[in-house]
Amino acid sequence: MAGIYLHIPFCKQACTYCNFHFTTSLRYKDELVLALAEEIKAEKDYLGGEEVRTIYFGGGTPSLLSISDLGFLISALRQQFPLADGAEITLEANPDDINTEKLQGWKTIGITRLSIGVQSFFEEELRWMNRAHNSQQAIGNLQLAREVFENITMDLIYGSPLLTDEMWKQNVDKAIGLGIPHLSCYALTVEEKTPLQKRIDAQTTPDIDNDKQARQFLLLMHWLREAGYEHYEVSNFAKPGFRSRHNSSYWKGAKYLGLGPSAHSFNGKERRWNIANNTVYIKGINEGKPERETEVLTSTQHLNETLMISLRTSEGIDLNKISTTWGEEEQLRIQNGLKKYIGHDLIRLQNNHAQLTDEGMLRADGIAADLFV
Ligand code: SF4
Repeated sequence: MAGIYLHIPFCKQACTYCNFHFTTSLRYKDELVLALAEEIKAEKDYLGGEEVRTIYFGGGTPSLLSISDLGFLISALRQQFPLADGAEITLEANPDDINTEKLQGWKTIGITRLSIGVQSFFEEELRWMNRAHNSQQAIGNLQLAREVFENITMDLIYGSPLLTDEMWKQNVDKAIGLGIPHLSCYALTVEEKTPLQKRIDAQTTPDIDNDKQARQFLLLMHWLREAGYEHYEVSNFAKPGFRSRHNSSYWKGAKYLGLGPSAHSFNGKERRWNIANNTVYIKGINEGKPERETEVLTSTQHLNETLMISLRTSEGIDLNKISTTWGEEEQLRIQNGLKKYIGHDLIRLQNNHAQLTDEGMLRADGIAADLFV
């Protein structure tokens, strides 16, 4: 069970809150696609021959690539990797890139799932975020997408200064009403060196209200549960049968290969990441000397990562697995660390799995860090 991620580092414009690796210049797009195809060939053995069950085009904005570029990359992957029958192939798409012709094209080249970056249905919020689409495009093109793809996820952001609880309810209701079977909902975070951070520092926009954010997250869990979505990871909700197989395999510790600038890979023992610079990435690949860094995971790092990732999922931390992989002493240490959270109703124990309660979800990363070695 392995996955492949391709990072497409191009966007039409810079969203105010974003700190992903991307550029708004499309100057090296063709060179980048060719470099990706070279990297696919060069890394054909990275996953040790394991069957590839998921491919994910992320970014950036992969929907900016032409159908023929995307098809070319999928064919290159098929030539070098054993792709499972019925593999999940996800494309991140922005609402303004969606039209009937593209939807049909994506389907024809083998895309099976769309991840659509909606973020909000409110015009004023979209402008505040500097998104490239408007509300009408979001609604109209989601409807179009539903006619061609069954498996669709969309992103929503909560906790922005403009978003009232009533607006948040309308955003979530709209997504449910459009029949979107998977939602990824993220709290707005202020990342270093983003336009948002600069605006907050200059006091031209209000800072994040953490209490409002927490409240909107609790409301979200309640609304989506009522609407029949499974809350299977802190930020992810799915109707039965629509969980993201790609992300789920990350959370289960499966191997994955990341291709493209800034992409991360994990082969079970080491983690590595490509340089986050398009021209340096292209040059390195073309010269057969990829620019990347590698870190061999120690047993402690592996345990800490397992705690962080598994606690965020609905399955929670499997204490039996901790014992078989890291020893009984580690399991006992973690069990002791969990006691105070169980006492405060932030964690519950079920079949020897430590799972977050709704309130616990608000503190997932802090609790995990507290359990670290
Ligand atoms: S479209 Fe996505 S990757 Fe591009 S700037 Fe906006 S949030 Fe970032």
